[in-house]
Amino acid sequence: MATRPLDTLADFPAIPAGWAYLDTAATAQKPQVVVDAIARAYGETYATVHRGVYQRSADMTLAYEAARARVARFIGAGSPDEIVFVRGATEGINLVAQCWAGTVLKPGDRIMLSLLEHHSNIVPWQMVAERTGAAIDVAPLTADGRIDLDAMAAMLTERHKLVALAHVSNVLGSILDVPAAAALAHRVGAKLLVDGCQAVPRLPVDVAAMGADFYVFSGHKLYGPTGIGVLWGRPELLDAMPPWQGGGAMIDRVTFEKTTYAPPPGRFEAGTPHIVGALGLHAAIDYVDAIGLPTIHAHESALVAQAREGLGAINSVRLFGPDDSAGIVSFAIEGVHPHDIGTILDESRVAIRAGHHCAQPLMDALGLPATARASFGVYNGPEDVAALVKGVERVTRIFG
Ligand code: PMP
Repeated sequence: MATRPLDTLADFPAIPAGWAYLDTAATAQKPQVVVDAIARAYGETYATVHRGVYQRSADMTLAYEAARARVARFIGAGSPDEIVFVRGATEGINLVAQCWAGTVLKPGDRIMLSLLEHHSNIVPWQMVAERTGAAIDVAPLTADGRIDLDAMAAMLTERHKLVALAHVSNVLGSILDVPAAAALAHRVGAKLLVDGCQAVPRLPVDVAAMGADFYVFSGHKLYGPTGIGVLWGRPELLDAMPPWQGGGAMIDRVTFEKTTYAPPPGRFEAGTPHIVGALGLHAAIDYVDAIGLPTIHAHESALVAQAREGLGAINSVRLFGPDDSAGIVSFAIEGVHPHDIGTILDESRVAIRAGHHCAQPLMDALGLPATARASFGVYNGPEDVAALVKGVERVTRIFG
C-alpha cells in the first residue's frame, strides 16, 4: 500500500483512529486551527462588528473584513467588495435568483441548467421562473457523466439570460470546463453562475480568470464552519442589484419617507453577520492554502483512482462518473439498496453517504432512487479506501 501522501489526520480532533470518514462532500471535518479560531473569537476577542466605537469592536471589524479580503484573494476576486458573506451556497444562489434574475428576467426568457445540478441550483431558478414567466432548459450529460457542453451550445439561444452549473458534481465528481461554459454563455449574452461547493475544497479557483459572473460556495465543505458561505459577483452586477433582506447594516440612510442602501457587499448583509463564522472560514482557507490545492487535488485523485480500481474489480458494483472525477465516487451494487450498503459499511467504521444527494433529476436519469457515495478530504489515506473496498466486498458476500 502507498504511504499516506498527506499527513494531516492528526490535525482533525473529531476523527478517531480507525474511522474512515468518506462523507466530505456532505460536510468536511474541521482542523484544530479552525476549532481554535472559533474558540478564540468567542472566548477571547468577541464583540460585534461595524457599530462599536470601542477598541474591541473595532478590532473585530478589522478581523471580519480581513476574512473577506482573504476569501477574495483565495478565489481571485478583484476586490473584497465583490465578496458577499451568506449562510452558504444555497443562500448565495437564492440571493442571485431573487435580486439579479428576479429583476432581469422577462416572460419568454430562459435559464440553462444541467441534469446533474444539486437541488439548490434548481429550485431557486424554478421559483424565479414561475414568478417572471421565464422557462428552464436542462443540458444533458455525456456518457461518462460530464455536462455535455456541445449539446448545451446547440441549445443556447439569445433568450437565455443565465446559465447556472456546478463546477464539480456532488454525485459524479465530474469537473466542468468553466472557461468553455463561460464562453458559450457569453456568446448568447447570458451570465454564468457557477456552484463551486465541491470545487473550492478540491481545485484551485480563479473566478474572474475563469470567466464566471457569479460564484458561490459553502464554508463547511471547505473545512470551515457551517452557517457561512460566499457569493462572489462581478462588481457591475452586484452594483445593479437591489437589496435582498432589509434591516440594519445594509443601509446608507433611513427615514420613514425613504431609505437608501449601502453599496455592495454591505447592501446584501442585513443584520448582525456570522462574525465568528467568517473568522473560522479565514482559518480554514489558511489551512487549505498552506497544503495547496494542487496538492489536495493530486491527493484526492490518487484516492479516487484507488477506489475506482478496487470497487470496479467487484463484479456487482456499478461505478458512476468519469475516471478523473474530483474526490467523489458514486456507486451502486446490483440488488442492494444504497442505505443497506451505508449501514453495513458503518459496522466496519466506514462512513459514506447513501441517498439521492439532493440530485433527484440525476437519479431519475440514472434510473435509480439513490446511490452510495464515497467522498474524500485531506485527512483520508489509502487505508480508508482499502477499508471501503473491503467493506463493499463484505456487503456483496452478505447479499450473496
Ligand atoms: N451545491 C452542491 C454541488 C452541493 O454539493 C451542495 C451541498 N451538498 C450545495 C450546493 C448546497 O450547499 P449548502 O447546503 O451548504 O448550502
